[in-house]
Amino acid sequence: EAKRRGKGMWVAYTGEMGARISAEAVLIREMTTAIEENQFSLVYQPIVRLSDERLTGVEALIRWNHPTRGMVSPVEFIPIAERTGQIVAIGRWALQEACRQAAEWRAEFPGVDSLTVGVNVAGRQLRDVQLVDDVAAALAINKLPPACLSIEVTETAVLDDEASNEAMLALRGLGVKLALDDFGTAASSLGLLLTCPVTTLKLDRSFVESINTVGRQSAVATAVSQMASALALASVAEGIETSEQRDLLRSLGYQYGQGYYWSRPVPPARIVELRLADLQRSAQPA
Ligand code: C2E
Ligand code: MG
Ligand code: MG
Ligand code: MG
Repeated sequence: EAKRRGKGMWVAYTGEMGARISAEAVLIREMTTAIEENQFSLVYQPIVRLSDERLTGVEALIRWNHPTRGMVSPVEFIPIAERTGQIVAIGRWALQEACRQAAEWRAEFPGVDSLTVGVNVAGRQLRDVQLVDDVAAALAINKLPPACLSIEVTETAVLDDEASNEAMLALRGLGVKLALDDFGTAASSLGLLLTCPVTTLKLDRSFVESINTVGRQSAVATAVSQMASALALASVAEGIETSEQRDLLRSLGYQYGQGYYWSRPVPPARIVELRLADLQRSAQPA
């Protein structure tokens, strides 16, 4: 067991703590070169309109294909990247790549309504002075209509923060959509709706999980849907895994759904296939 002296204080590290700290230090170091070494990629999860289950959008989700560990989940590295600030560069890469992909899809399906592409933005990114310019540039370079892009922010990222509120207003000014992700999980969800210029509420997966068995879950889901419609916001239910959940959330008034029931996050080529299947379906006489 190692003991180290720092600033006149004795700090005791247990072996386990030390191992965890150095594993994290390795991850941090490896993240600095992961962009240039092309180790990040985006997968896309379909978002469907619940009324007809047509594909109307996708959410871009980052993956880290690590040379020795294989796929590292964003749940593992995004929080660390947020702490170190590396999320700014990683998030910029994700934004640019998602916009490039969105433009490619638009070119593949000329004359067809574009998919909305959702990009997650961490609190740290929202407070980065360059974010709004980055978004404007990504739209311009790819000739992407702003409404094709939906920026997803979590409640905790935007709580009571002047800088992030200004960034959100500027993003709305560009014409991009703004979704409040994981909605319902933070302490002050409701008050936030008064000041946060969002266009969309994404009900957190935790409320969908046991919606058919736990009364409280469905009470929250109902309230969020009613609030969205009262405030003229779009509503998305995340984490739908069964047809029962789909039916329930549709009956509660949710406009859009996302979850393993339709598809897990998939590589971009698979989205093209889903899109084609969708168009063929609409070409069939009813
Ligand atoms: P999120 O933005 O809330 O994304 C939804 C997460 O729920 C994704 O996990 C998705 O795979 C998962 N999910 C979707 N449907 C279902 C379902 O039916 N059942 C279950 N069990 N899970 C479902 P993923 O891809 O692991 O991403 C986790 C989180 O990492 C995201 O949560 C987001 O907060 C963050 N993240 C991912 N990509 C990025 C990124 O490019 N930038 C930033 N800043 N954060 C990202
Ligand atoms: Mg999200
Ligand atoms: Mg979410
Ligand atoms: Mg989430």
